[in-house]
Formats: sequence, C-alpha cells, structure tokens
Amino acid sequence: MSRRPIVIANWKMNKLPSEVSQYIQYVAPKLVGYPNVDAVLAGQDVLLNTMVMAAKDTSIEIGAENMYWQDKGAYTGETSPRALADLGISKVIIGHSERRNYFRETDEMVNLKTLAALRNGVAPIIAIDEAVQLTSLNDHAHWIVNQVVESLKGVTEQEMSHILLAYEPTAAIGSGQAMTPVDAQKSLRIIRQTVADMFNQDIADRVRILYGGSVKPANAYDLLKQPDIDGVLVGDAALDATTFLELISLA
Ligand code: PGA
Repeated sequence: MSRRPIVIANWKMNKLPSEVSQYIQYVAPKLVGYPNVDAVLAGQDVLLNTMVMAAKDTSIEIGAENMYWQDKGAYTGETSPRALADLGISKVIIGHSERRNYFRETDEMVNLKTLAALRNGVAPIIAIDEAVQLTSLNDHAHWIVNQVVESLKGVTEQEMSHILLAYEPTAAIGSGQAMTPVDAQKSLRIIRQTVADMFNQDIADRVRILYGGSVKPANAYDLLKQPDIDGVLVGDAALDATTFLELISLA
C-alpha cells in the first residue's frame, strides 16, 4: 500500500503576520519539483487569513493549530471549526502535546474536536503523545492504544479517509532529541494496528501516520524510510523556509 508522503510545518506561536508572505512566496514555486508530496503549513489563528491569501493558487495547504468543538455560539475567544472551513483551512492539528500539557486538554476534548472538525469538513491531524514518565513497554503501548481509541470514538469508516494521525513523544518535542527511527516505527506500528482493530485492515493500510519531535533534515530520511512513517510534523526546523523545502525533498 503506497501512501502519499506529507510534511506538515507546525509554526506554533512563532511567526508574525509580516513574515508569512515571504516564506510562502519562497516555498511555493519550488514545490512544483515535488508533485508527489503534500506540503502543509499550520499557523496560529492570527496568521491564517494571511496564509490562505499568500498560498492561493499554490499547492500549499494551510492548517490551523487548534480549534473549539462547538460550531458557533457564545464562546468568547475560541476558534470555530465552521469559520476555519469558511476561510479555506483544510486541516487542523488536534490534541498536540502542548495543548494537552499546558491547556489541560483531555482525550475527551480531543475526541469532541475531532468530530467537530470532521463535521465541518476540516481534516483532523490527531496528535498522539507519549508521557515522559512511562517506563515499561507495556505502559507505553497501552498509553498509545488508549489515546488512539479515545480520540477516534464515533468516527465512521468513511470519515477515516480524512483523518491523519501524528505520533509525537513529548520528550522528543523541541528537545533536539528525536526518537530513533526504529523506536518511532514500533510506536507507529502500534497505532496502525489499533486502527486495524477498531476498523479494519484496509482502513489501517490507508490512514497516514506521521512522526513528530525534533525532525530535521539530518534525521528525516531515516525516519521516513520506516514502513509505517508516512510523513513528518515539524516544529523548530520548519520555521526556516529552506529547511522546510529540504524536508519536502527528503519525503
Ligand atoms: P519540534 O516540534 O520539531 O520543534 O520538536 C514538533 C511538534 O511539536 O510538532
């Protein structure tokens, strides 16, 4: 089963509106050389409109980093999935470990957001993290399986074609210490197997699963060579447009 490679930049809270156009204008024309790789840039809400405008008529997809689980209403300060869709946002990261750890997002909230994104036609990139304190292999597998099962509750077989999963061990995020490709592969295999158990093998074979956590050009190739790693979710390294392109070329 060949799955289309994908590189997603997670800009987090780092870029300014005034920096967006230059980045996109640099990257977009060069993507023509890599027609078989999906390129996604995810930015904070205040950038999204500028990002969508700058990426118009290019192959770059724009993603959000978070959203609320209600479609609309009196939720001051939250971002509506309906508004994301209306703006032309095609993907949204849900349950990033920074959201889980700093903003107390639970598996239940991740599930509600996943369903809301699907309902509004925005493809969820569900982040599966791994707590630093887990030691035994059993704990580790159980933790991952549980997050996959909880976040995908109520998702239909048809909707699974819009889901992306991203495995991001907390200790690897922003630390410069990526997981080894072999260990990352083991975790991604567990995630794919969980999808097979919940749905069926065909859906598991089709779902794209990414690795994230200190990905850079020096380790991306070996990570992407693993049979279950279909793409990478990149923070720090993707702040630089040249490095982002380099990652695209390695995918
Ligand atoms: P990093 O972040 O590449 O800076 O480790 C990855 C992420 O949190 O998505």
